Amino acid sequence: MADKIIVNSEKAPEMFGFFEEICKIPHGSENETAIADYIVRFAAERSLECYRDEANNVLIRKSATAGREGEESLLLQGHTDMVCEKDGNVKHDFLTDPIKLFVENGFLKAKGTTLGADDGVAVAAMLAILDGAVDSHPPIECLFTAGEEIGMIGAGKFDFSKVQSRRMINIDSEKEGIAVVGCAGGVRSELTLPIKRTDKKGDCLRIKLGGLAGGHSGEDINKGRINANRLMGSFLTELSIKMECSISAVCGVSKDNALPIECVAEIAVPDFFEALYELENIAKIVSKEISEDDNGFFCTVEHCELDSVLDEESNDKFMIALNNTPCGVIEMSRDVEGLVEWSANLGVVETGEENVKFTFLTRSGIDERIDYSMHALDRFSKALGGETGHFGRYTGWSYAKASPIREAYIAAYKKLFGKEASCEIIHAGLECGLIRANIPDMDIISIGPDIIALHSPRERLNIASAERLWELLEYMLEN
Ligand SMILES: [Zn+2]
Repeated sequence: MADKIIVNSEKAPEMFGFFEEICKIPHGSENETAIADYIVRFAAERSLECYRDEANNVLIRKSATAGREGEESLLLQGHTDMVCEKDGNVKHDFLTDPIKLFVENGFLKAKGTTLGADDGVAVAAMLAILDGAVDSHPPIECLFTAGEEIGMIGAGKFDFSKVQSRRMINIDSEKEGIAVVGCAGGVRSELTLPIKRTDKKGDCLRIKLGGLAGGHSGEDINKGRINANRLMGSFLTELSIKMECSISAVCGVSKDNALPIECVAEIAVPDFFEALYELENIAKIVSKEISEDDNGFFCTVEHCELDSVLDEESNDKFMIALNNTPCGVIEMSRDVEGLVEWSANLGVVETGEENVKFTFLTRSGIDERIDYSMHALDRFSKALGGETGHFGRYTGWSYAKASPIREAYIAAYKKLFGKEASCEIIHAGLECGLIRANIPDMDIISIGPDIIALHSPRERLNIASAERLWELLEYMLEN
């Protein structure tokens, strides 16, 4: 058992002990060999049945405590990899250096780096349970997956026929008391249009739209925030109603899973000052319409030098694609109030010499919606003489109307803390979706402690909340 060094927890000493142990082993995404070795060694030392695959996923089985042998097995699951982010001035090599922990105001933090409570808490809790920290439990399986943060790589490669359980607790949520009971699937699509160029005529100018709030392309898609790429589409459309307007390039490069906060266009117009006048008017109207979140919005216009612009046909097709592909909320759920059921985000627009590329991330909890979006984009691009490729598709986890594990969680939470736990479905991806796709009759719930600012060097774990997570797991296993 690990020494208690940093966190002096009375309620969950074993879990924090293992958390501190794994912080000594670098375990960023794509660097999970050492932590997988550690977990395999841990299992061997305790004579636990253990299976490890080439993707560094590890599955460990522990038999029931005396008297509970006949019960159904329960799967616990979390990922071993963490996001590696550090402050600019901090010297830290994520391949070799341990995470340096400290406690401040009830929070466990790391010195200048991400903490890895996402998802080290799950790893530590599972190790503590396997180590015998819970007195009574049914047969248990613990699945440690690799590469979650870079596209659920590990879970995507795991052979789920190894899993015997048909009920599971995923420990990869970050809000105490709010269990996740469903999540969206998604796919990245790249639409490429060939373009032809011609000599430019008239004055050249560069328009920059920026200062928008951005955010997560799933969780923030229904907050009324503007997508900078799409906004550029309306600027250019409005301008082209007033005057001839030839695009040379549009560039709005974000991540496909983030709302773009700025976009730049280079165009040729008959007269710079007339265009400037019109663009100022358009910007004024936009400024009045934007939401509070986007109030940093700005539009700048300056002269630039251009050699070529798109020919008329390419220009038209570009504008059609920029303005008419799906972007934003497509459909809200009919069953769950406030839940986005289907959305798309035009995260990236890039213009090259010979083609222009649009990158979308489509999300939905319903697989058929994603199929539909893929077909629709295929047809759309074909009609414009282009093509679309689809990448990295992952399955959603649809809400189960009946779920004994969810009922057990709600009852346990109420019993222990005297409060109602809530359940939510998220418009983002979790490994639970992939697991359900492989084991359709798996009954799943996803829980976790309060983790603030995850994926950033300010990531911190609420210690009391993690202790309550431990109590909850203990109670659920014992009962
Ligand atoms: Zn995570």
